Amino acid sequence: MRTKERLSIALVTAFCGMIVLWSISAPLRMTDLSLSAVSPSKPVLDSQEQEFFNFMVQQVHKPVSYRGEPPNIENHRNPAMVIKEHNTFVILFYIPVFHSYDSQTRNFIISHEFGHIYYNHLRHEGSTLNEQIQADTFALSFSSPDVLIDFCNAFLPDKEMAARIKNAQAYKEKHLLQY
Ligand SMILES: [Zn+2]
Repeated sequence: MRTKERLSIALVTAFCGMIVLWSISAPLRMTDLSLSAVSPSKPVLDSQEQEFFNFMVQQVHKPVSYRGEPPNIENHRNPAMVIKEHNTFVILFYIPVFHSYDSQTRNFIISHEFGHIYYNHLRHEGSTLNEQIQADTFALSFSSPDVLIDFCNAFLPDKEMAARIKNAQAYKEKHLLQY
């Protein structure tokens, strides 16, 4: 009988211990869930974008890599940005903001980021308006001004976006006059 009693006490203790552990680990399990919700469910770039990315690397002649990141909390509408790690430029694509755009706009975003790399803009406190316009003008060699105008329009009202639209429209008019 004593052995049986000891055994049941041990079983009850083990069972309670498991329940306590399960409840203690609840916040951890929730964290895991939220992390899996923001991690990319598909590759950051599709095969066409990967090809375009490789082409852009050749245009700037600089070491460039990329990775997907959770959305930027400070600027939750930012689809991408460039950082420099050691001697390599890294484009951070904010998932799922980047994936919320259509493929033409995603190509514009990629070429705009390469514009920052081409001009060596280091974005510690975000880009200046001048840097944004330089990166846009670089991107306009690879993307339609209409895609850029639509992209900027989605952010209005905004002084910076208005200036970028003006630049894209000027590029468009100049381009149309040439033909
Ligand atoms: Zn930019």
